Amino acid sequence: MLVRLMYASRATEPVRPDALNAIVRESTRNNAAIGVTGVLCFSGTIFLQVLEGGRSQVSALYNRITQDQRHHDVVLLSYDEIEERSFAGWAMGQVNLARLNPGLLLKYSEAAVLDPFAVSGKVSKALFAELVATASVACTG
Ligand code: FAD
Repeated sequence: MLVRLMYASRATEPVRPDALNAIVRESTRNNAAIGVTGVLCFSGTIFLQVLEGGRSQVSALYNRITQDQRHHDVVLLSYDEIEERSFAGWAMGQVNLARLNPGLLLKYSEAAVLDPFAVSGKVSKALFAELVATASVACTG
């Protein structure tokens, strides 16, 4: 039983690149061990993460992540049972927003900024699908 979960959250304090890298490194290592794949997107203040894998593994991981004091306002955007993974190649891929075409963000929102709190979960899912299709996801693991 595979599921895909997407959430958004706000960074508790400014996240320096080394702190972000530490989260991605830790996630890559832990997720690979439990068969969870996904992507982490960070905009400067907002995290947007997709987690895919076994239902109990994703559920336990999400519960742990929500307790992490490096972020707050964790909002569940979508949860689906899936037949196949979209991010099978990434234990924890990362979206480099600096390299992202602003037109892609504008396509789905009022301004060319990542704000999953301002759009529906459906829109965030569509944006992620395009990130994958346009190979905007980098594997840092
Ligand atoms: P421990 O390492 O024992 O830490 C216990 C608690 O201390 C953590 O829950 C956390 O609240 C806090 N903590 C740990 N390190 C720091 C730090 N450097 N600064 C401040 N507080 C800290 N983990 C994954 O395994 N997979 C993921 O996909 C994943 N995604 C994440 C996405 C975001 C946006 C954030 C903020 C964290 C993510 N994490 C992820 C990290 C996760 O929240 C846990 O810290 C990690 O899984 C280790 O869990 P643990 O119970 O072993 O915690």
